[in-house]
Formats: sequence, C-alpha cells, structure tokens
Amino acid sequence: MSGTVLITGCNRGLGLEMTRQFADDGWQVLACCRNVPGASELRALEEKFRHVRLFELDVTDYDEMSALAKSLWDQPIDILLNNAGSYGPKGVAFGQVDLDEWRRVLECNTIAPYKLAETFYRNVADSQRKVMAIISSKVGSIADNSSGGGYIYRTSKTAVNQVVKSLSVDLHDRGVSVLALHPGWVKTDMGGPNALISVEDSVAGLKKLLLDTDLAHSGRFYNYDGSEIPW
Ligand code: NAP
Repeated sequence: MSGTVLITGCNRGLGLEMTRQFADDGWQVLACCRNVPGASELRALEEKFRHVRLFELDVTDYDEMSALAKSLWDQPIDILLNNAGSYGPKGVAFGQVDLDEWRRVLECNTIAPYKLAETFYRNVADSQRKVMAIISSKVGSIADNSSGGGYIYRTSKTAVNQVVKSLSVDLHDRGVSVLALHPGWVKTDMGGPNALISVEDSVAGLKKLLLDTDLAHSGRFYNYDGSEIPW
C-alpha cells in the first residue's frame, strides 16, 4: 500500500534519498526544503515523479509552517517525517561552547520537531497509517554516552527524544504512533566521508521501520537496522 509522506530537509542527504525511495514506491511525497529554486536534485525528482510535490519550509519559521498547514488542511498524511537537522559547530571542546549556536541548534532539532507535530497531527490522525517519526541520533542516548563532549548536538537530540516519548503518550488515543529513529553514521554532508553507511542503505532500513510500525512500537527509539536503542 502506498500513501502520503511529508518530509522536511529534502534537498540533500537523508531527506533527498527518502524522497527518492518513497517516490519510487509510488507514494505521494510532500517534500519540504528551505530553498526550492536552489534544490536542483530535488527538482529533478519532481520532474521524474508527478507525485512529488515541493514546498518551501524552514522548520524554524513557524509562520511559514502554519501557512503550509493551511494549504494542506484537508490532506491526510500517513507518515510525518521530521528529518531536517543541524549539527552546529563541530569539534567544540568543553569550555568553548558557543551559547548562541546552542540555542540555534535547539530551535532546529528540538523545538521545531515539536512544532511540526503540533501543526500537522490532525493530518496524521486523519490518515490510514498514522505515523510520526523524528530523526534523532544515537549520540542523544544518555545510556550510550561514554565519550562526553558534543554538548550542543547531543542535548538537542536527547531533548527531542523526550518530545517523542511525550507525543507518543499524548497522541496514543488518536491512534498515532511516534518514533525516534537513528539513521546510523551515514555518508552525508553531516556524517562526512568517513561515515560507515551509505544513504541508500540507511534510508532503506528507516523506510522499512516506518512501514512496519504500529502503536505497539510507539514511544521507542530505533536504529535504522531495526534494533532498539536505550534512551
Ligand atoms: P545533511 O546532509 O547535513 O542535511 C541536513 C538537512 O537538514 C538539509 O536538507 C538542510 O537544509 C536541512 N535543514 C537544516 N536546518 C534546517 C531548517 N532550519 N529548516 C529546514 N531544513 C533544515 O544531514 P543528514 O545527514 O541528511 O541529516 C538528516 C537528519 O539525520 C538530521 O536530523 C541529522 O541530525 C540526523 N542524523 C544524521 C546522521 C549522519 O551520520 N548523517 C547521524 C545521526 C543523525 P539546507 O540545505 O537548507 O541547510
């Protein structure tokens, strides 16, 4: 069965590949990115697949998000995928953390995913599959933190995991499943060239999880290979 998926951050990396794989399977993809005219690879997918629709969305621009929701008010969304994310400055040691960067990353990785869920939950609840997922990261797992550092990115993903858990409780009675997903260490601009996993393999795994999930899996944190990650 196909359906409709809304994905953020679709112009490159995991979001672009997610758009490609869902479109290939016949899904309608509502593909969002910050700069549609500059998103040449995404526009090529729009040309190839008539069921890929592009929308401009900076996930931290809540007026833009609200306007998009108005234009999609009667569109059921089977899967709402918050993929957009920002790492912030890399290699920052204890004592050198830029607080303004920290606030910027928290806005993008933690607050915006909550706002996306709040803005589109009715569309999801009105769909067949009723799935929401936030691309988190294993480095947000407190149980997994043995190397320290990474204050900005780690905290943004730890906090968004808590958003996932609360959403799973609050939206349970509407039948909506909410997942936190780790894509693996993936060869994208964020993951860098030394990463271990291709975008194709990561997205294939994530997509399988999204399609197989139900309320019994809601409020949990999964690796792209289907294994569960401790919070
Ligand atoms: P990427 O190649 O750096 O792509 C990041 C995407 O997020 C881009 O499309 C970017 O758009 C978009 N984005 C950033 N800020 C945005 C905003 N305010 N509004 C809308 N879009 C915004 O990274 P990626 O590896 O594909 O990462 C995708 C997700 O996976 C992120 O949530 C990331 O934290 C997570 N993740 C990645 C890895 C990895 O190894 N790659 C590991 C764990 C988790 P612009 O082009 O406009 O900047």
